[in-house]
Amino acid sequence: MGKGNIEKAGWGKLAITLIDKKREKGGAVRVSYKPGRHKQIAESAFMKKRGMGVSPTEIPDKEAWEIVNIIWDAPEDEVLSIGEVKQYPWEEYGEIMGLRPCDDCGEMVSVAYLQVVGDRHMCIPCSGYDE
Ligand SMILES: [Zn+2]
Repeated sequence: MGKGNIEKAGWGKLAITLIDKKREKGGAVRVSYKPGRHKQIAESAFMKKRGMGVSPTEIPDKEAWEIVNIIWDAPEDEVLSIGEVKQYPWEEYGEIMGLRPCDDCGEMVSVAYLQVVGDRHMCIPCSGYDE
């Protein structure tokens, strides 16, 4: 996203693949959220108010920071699952501003939405991932 070192997969998962574009062949690590402190977060004043429909801007900063600190103070392995660093091939598509044709239907697709199927890059409907 943005600088292209985070890719949005649109799978609704609380996980990101971070890509180090400075590495020669591309290095990436998968980081996902673990629910270790989820109960504590759910029971916080902030989340209770959100659950009652209170807008985040109407919730005092102190209560917002409370949930930030729940995560901040938690041991890393309780809230994050960090994968191995893997090679991750990526390409720049500067000339066409983040668009690339789907290898199947040929329509232009934002690279953030391209799905990799084997060695082909496809749009979501051609990849069949949404079925
Ligand atoms: Zn397609």
